[in-house]
Amino acid sequence: MMYKQASYDEPLLREIKSGTSYRFPSVESETAEIPKKLLRRELNLPSVAEYDVARHFTRLAEMNYSVDNGIYPLGSCTMKYNPKFADEIAANPLFRDVHPMRPESTIQGNLRIMYELQEYLREISDMDAVSLQPLAGAHGEFTGMRIVRKYFEDRGENRTEVIIPDSAHGTNPASATMAGFDVVEVPSNEKGMVDLDALDAAMSDRTAALMITNPNTLGIFEENIVEIARKIHEAGGLLYYDGANLNAILGITSPGLMGFDIVHFNLHKTFATPHGGGGPGSGPVGVKKFLSGYLPSPVVRFDGRRYSLVDSGNESIGAMATHYGSFLVVLRAWAYIRYMGSNGLRHASERAVLNTNYLEHLISGIYRPSHPAPKKHEMVVSATSAGKRASDIAKFILDNGMHPPTIYFPLIVHEALMIEVTESASKSDLDRYADVLLKAAKEDEESIKQRPSNTHRRRLDEVRAARQLVLRW
Ligand SMILES: *Cc1c(COP(=O)(O)O)cnc(C)c1O
Repeated sequence: MMYKQASYDEPLLREIKSGTSYRFPSVESETAEIPKKLLRRELNLPSVAEYDVARHFTRLAEMNYSVDNGIYPLGSCTMKYNPKFADEIAANPLFRDVHPMRPESTIQGNLRIMYELQEYLREISDMDAVSLQPLAGAHGEFTGMRIVRKYFEDRGENRTEVIIPDSAHGTNPASATMAGFDVVEVPSNEKGMVDLDALDAAMSDRTAALMITNPNTLGIFEENIVEIARKIHEAGGLLYYDGANLNAILGITSPGLMGFDIVHFNLHKTFATPHGGGGPGSGPVGVKKFLSGYLPSPVVRFDGRRYSLVDSGNESIGAMATHYGSFLVVLRAWAYIRYMGSNGLRHASERAVLNTNYLEHLISGIYRPSHPAPKKHEMVVSATSAGKRASDIAKFILDNGMHPPTIYFPLIVHEALMIEVTESASKSDLDRYADVLLKAAKEDEESIKQRPSNTHRRRLDEVRAARQLVLRW
């Protein structure tokens, strides 16, 4: 397929001259009772006509690439296609326009949706209680770490360390540190899993928790997870599950079965909310029964007759956000789970795993997988094995009208390409993607350094682009 990205020399909205401007209607008569100093006569808005605004954003959208254009296999991010019905439901004014301070008796339907999602997430994760309040995965991690901290404070135990594998997402150590813990890193072994001897050496009576994602960021399932959970519990610590990779295990296994005590969900990754570009997201947190009173408040309860927002318990860490979180993201997740059903969710995970292994099969002759273990929802290969740099491969993919994988993460793989195709890739998408990857490996050094040339922007001086941001407004 030939590719040439749409390219416009698009000015800033402020620079567009429509010859019209926005004028405030005269409000003197009806608003006589509003004090003069509160009346706004002028807003510093661009003076553009509606048609110019629509065309401006349409042209920018044409120059963009999204999950609606094609495959977007950004490892760790789970950028799958989001079915449109979920957006349509979230756009319904009966949901969209509900003020968060409305009396509970008038929003029983919304509270029911929140309650049911709490229940679905409980069942999916095999946890005992869920709060929908946190606003992103990282926010869920921070919430979980605050729960760990308060739990040990209440027990009078001075546990100051959180153990995190070296393959972890950067938000894990950041969240633990923000919650006041010292981070102890454990290395991975040659299989890409936690090194049990190193784990033993890292554990002590200072250990508050182990934070881990499973399958991990290499797409590999920790085969010793039950043993790891036993060790941490015996040492008096808690287990935190980073749920960003839940897309690999829906309906197949669960954090609860693996022995975890706390988990967050990334609703915007696994459950049908578009993401990237900064939100809104939602990172509900689930816990085992002995921690349920620590959840952020409020949570939704149902007494058989009415739904109400209540404090989770006396030990609650308090509010982590205003009101009750990102309701419209919660709503999309609820709609998606209802639509898919438990068989549908399991099927999505099976398909995500199958797709990953199919792609690995197509490219592994040239791109050596980081580790031989079977992959789940994503894989990591080293561009070095194809004699290339990860950034050059990424530019080559851009030139072919597709989105590159995540590059240079996880840090433990040299020149990493981290590929997560998700269940929303067809066989022909995967064949085409493999084809482009294989062609990239064959391209000579001289030409691949000139890529991309079919895109609006050519190769940037990346160091300068990162240091000298041009932020015009
Ligand atoms: C995305 C991700 C996170 C952080 O989630 P956000 O919703 O982006 O804050 C944490 N861990 C892993 C493995 C992730 O992929």
